[in-house]
Amino acid sequence: MTTQPPVFPFDNTYARELRGFYVPWEGAEVPAPFLVLLNKDLAEELQLDADALNTPVGAANLTGSRSPDGAAPLAQAYAGHQFGGFSPQLGDGRAILLGELIDRHGKRRDLHLKGSGRTPFSRGGDGKAVIGPVLREYIMGETMHALGIPTTRALAAGTTGELIDREGAKPGAVLARIASSHIRVGTFQFFAARGETDKVRQLADYAIARHDPDLTEAADKYLQLLARVISRQADLLSKWVLVGFVHGVMNTDNMTISGETIDYGPCAFLDTYDPDAVFSSIDEGGRYAYGKQPLIAQWNLARLAECLVPLINPDDADDAVRLATNELNKFPALYQAAWLDGMRKKLGLATEDHHDIDLANALMDAMKGQNVDYTAFFRSLAREVEADGSTTAALFADSTGFEHWFSHWKARLEKEDAKAADIANRMNQANPIYIPRNHKVEEALAEAQSGNYERTHKLLDVLKDPFTERSGLEAYAGPAPDDFGPYRTFCGT
Ligand code: AMP
Ligand code: MG
Repeated sequence: MTTQPPVFPFDNTYARELRGFYVPWEGAEVPAPFLVLLNKDLAEELQLDADALNTPVGAANLTGSRSPDGAAPLAQAYAGHQFGGFSPQLGDGRAILLGELIDRHGKRRDLHLKGSGRTPFSRGGDGKAVIGPVLREYIMGETMHALGIPTTRALAAGTTGELIDREGAKPGAVLARIASSHIRVGTFQFFAARGETDKVRQLADYAIARHDPDLTEAADKYLQLLARVISRQADLLSKWVLVGFVHGVMNTDNMTISGETIDYGPCAFLDTYDPDAVFSSIDEGGRYAYGKQPLIAQWNLARLAECLVPLINPDDADDAVRLATNELNKFPALYQAAWLDGMRKKLGLATEDHHDIDLANALMDAMKGQNVDYTAFFRSLAREVEADGSTTAALFADSTGFEHWFSHWKARLEKEDAKAADIANRMNQANPIYIPRNHKVEEALAEAQSGNYERTHKLLDVLKDPFTERSGLEAYAGPAPDDFGPYRTFCGT
């Protein structure tokens, strides 16, 4: 154990190269910074000394109470369409970017704090966060990472020693978040809405240098940047849908250029399969329902395209719109190809047959309205490779549709040149058994509010390896008990 304060070898390109895109800003001093969770694996990946982070100075650094040496703390400007309506000025109202770190693989990563106090972008808010939403973001991000889904990640969660009013007094907390960058669709919108085309270009050049450096010299680099973001988001959205993830607030300010999932607020994993599933208490119209997410992503990408049009062809707007539209129109096919690829894996198919898309769609149709647990279904199906389907059929309210589908799937498996056990094994590597079940998350967060993090640790431990069945973890693999009732989540403010 060391008591040496941490050293952060920051390199702050955002602060240096993008003046006018942010306000330099420090986190608020808090009475008693204390790290309740520290992500040692991630610290190591970032070439940080985890023991040094786990000191009083480390806790002060990671809660924003005291800026580390070498940081260039700032609040980023961004705009965004929230539930379809445009807000020209959102920005980091309760967050700051401390700086950038180069990880073990040479990748540049942002170290950002969420809940670190008011900034010039706070509007009416208090700039704070509380323990529940901070831990929820920690758990969700780590789960997505373990599932192989691009995501921002939590480096640490710290309490501040304050009580914050959120329908009652709750422990104040700060999330130290790591991201490939915090450039959002809304960051482009902020400058585009002001007609500041030079700034949009400066931001696009910065984004290209950071995320797509191979495009730097390309004559049509802005069009290609758009194409890259479209492709990353198509891939990301397919992964969300395949695993049953509902983001909950797919506003354009919550969509990254990097293709990482960001801003876990009222998000949740499906229990029963339902394209209309909505968990967020503020999404009354179901705009961000599970099954609508790919369409919404494409809508958000159209907003990005609008920002880039003046760069794509500065002399001919019609031509630029035509080119951008052409890229946007590729989204559905990209998405569907990625989804089908993932669905083949979920169904144990290593070869490709042109009827696979019909097989996959037919399964979704058979599951609709059947109250089938989405996650448990695929694990059960893996056990049917050598069985007759009756155990899985029992998961359906009316199994007629499933039984019909099952015979087609069995016939399709015949075309796989593989042993049954191998097929089942690869299905289990594509279908998690453990997801952050809503009742398990709530149970952990409720306990954490009173300062006990045992269930949070346990949940994180289970979710670190979501694909490998372990004995004693049955309670993490099943749906909520009936008395848990319909699930609602609330924005992480
Ligand atoms: P989010 O819901 O996290 O995507 O945030 C949307 C916008 O509201 C961002 O500009 C946030 O910075 C701002 N915001 C959310 N909560 C607070 C808060 N407690 N204080 C100040 N600003 C906030
Ligand atoms: Mg946000």
